[in-house]
Amino acid sequence: MLTPRILVVEDEPAIADTIVYALSTEGFEPVWCATGGAALDAVKRTPCALAILDIGLPDTNGFDLFKRLAQLVPELPAIFLTARAGEIDRVVGLELGADDYIAKPFSPRELVARVRTVLRRVQRAAASAPTAASAFVIDDERKTIRYRGRALELSRYEYRLLKALAERPGRVFSRDELMQKAWDDPGASFDRTVDAHVKTLRAKLRAIDPQADPIQTHRGMGYSLREDG
Ligand code: CA
Repeated sequence: MLTPRILVVEDEPAIADTIVYALSTEGFEPVWCATGGAALDAVKRTPCALAILDIGLPDTNGFDLFKRLAQLVPELPAIFLTARAGEIDRVVGLELGADDYIAKPFSPRELVARVRTVLRRVQRAAASAPTAASAFVIDDERKTIRYRGRALELSRYEYRLLKALAERPGRVFSRDELMQKAWDDPGASFDRTVDAHVKTLRAKLRAIDPQADPIQTHRGMGYSLREDG
């Protein structure tokens, strides 16, 4: 994301205007939503680097919205806007895993500075931490896998293949092993069936992150998921 997209959820147009203006003049791309519902729709369509969430919203509150956004985008950093200077709001906000908060009235310049600080912190953490495996979140109940915060649309075999690889990063699986893990009737399948599914999986991962290539081919042996990102 060259221009970081910032989700702004604020129902008061005058405040929203000020935030949107400050962000755009400072090189960010704001996405303004006046309700929690609109914000949930927006993050499904457009990936955002950070969310600025007002606590008092017409259809929900910032805390609940944050929890629901986190289900869609697990690592979305958030800054809360609070109208009450009460400690409770602040403490609750930070306990949720929010990255910062700012009390109204605030200066737009201050808010933009906070946005920069949080984004820098998140980028530093991302640069020092991640392995390819940690980029995957497996939800076994829903049979879905998220990659870098975005849900992959996977066929049954793709799901099982990727799950097998992601559960043991670095471990090389032979095609035969993968077939045993992923197919109901492995005997009826061929090695190249695994290759074909790895190919479509790679294309789906590439659509989310064109640079990373987390599935490694080991000639004559099989496949593994990169440990080193
Ligand atoms: Ca409000």
